[in-house]
Amino acid sequence: MINTDIHTHTTYSADGKGRIEDMVERAISLGLSHYGISEHFDYDYDRLKLKIDDAPVPPINARAYFLHIRALQKRHRKKICLLAGAEFGFDHDSRTQERYIRAQKKFKPDFVINSVHICLGADCYFPRFFAGKSKAFAYNAYLYRVLESLDAPYPYDIVAHIGYCSRNATYPDPKLRYSDFSDVLDEILRRIIAKDKILEVNTSSKTAGSDFLPDTDILYRYYELGGRKIAYASDAHDTDRIGEKRQIVADALKKIGFDHLTIPCQGRCLLLPF
Ligand SMILES: [Zn+2]
Ligand SMILES: [Zn+2]
Repeated sequence: MINTDIHTHTTYSADGKGRIEDMVERAISLGLSHYGISEHFDYDYDRLKLKIDDAPVPPINARAYFLHIRALQKRHRKKICLLAGAEFGFDHDSRTQERYIRAQKKFKPDFVINSVHICLGADCYFPRFFAGKSKAFAYNAYLYRVLESLDAPYPYDIVAHIGYCSRNATYPDPKLRYSDFSDVLDEILRRIIAKDKILEVNTSSKTAGSDFLPDTDILYRYYELGGRKIAYASDAHDTDRIGEKRQIVADALKKIGFDHLTIPCQGRCLLLPF
């Protein structure tokens, strides 16, 4: 059984819906041993002045977030190992990357998730991204962006939600299959292994046609290439989704051959058998 979840958001993120206290209480009530909050640091959004529903996306109040979560870590330390994380939205622009480096030095998050949300100047989460683009073009553009993100100059621990582009893609068959993108996926997986990063299995798959991202075909290939560092992530933005599909993920991972999860904290890794 998986008893962790290290990718979640609270109202400190612009799109979070659960209060941080409620999210932590819920993680405790689920019996999780390690629970990570990874608020969005959307400096990529900020540089491009991107909007959601015609509203700007305000940058995180990082000072308030870290003060709050560090206090909660102490308060709940006998009940749960609460990890204070950050999700950095990858951007190739050096000014954005320097902002991430500064934030990391200043706030010293327990772990960092490196994520690609923006591709070709827009967030590939939204259906409008796919207008006028073939599936092969859109997914290749996203995957090459993921490949580029692996060389980000700031330290990070986890490579997030490979297949994010398929969450709300408008194609009749939105599933991202290894066999259709094997060249770039092999490059990505080999680089994750060479850089000793953790590959995330993210259960916020929306209408991607899979229970989790990336799906088992890609996870099989990761294992085949020698990858063993895996993290479970619900990417919950409210209390209800914390720990969602943990059993499904555990069963799938065991079938492939994985026998433990890897939890990053302050540059070190904890291995948790499941
Ligand atoms: Zn994300
Ligand atoms: Zn997230």
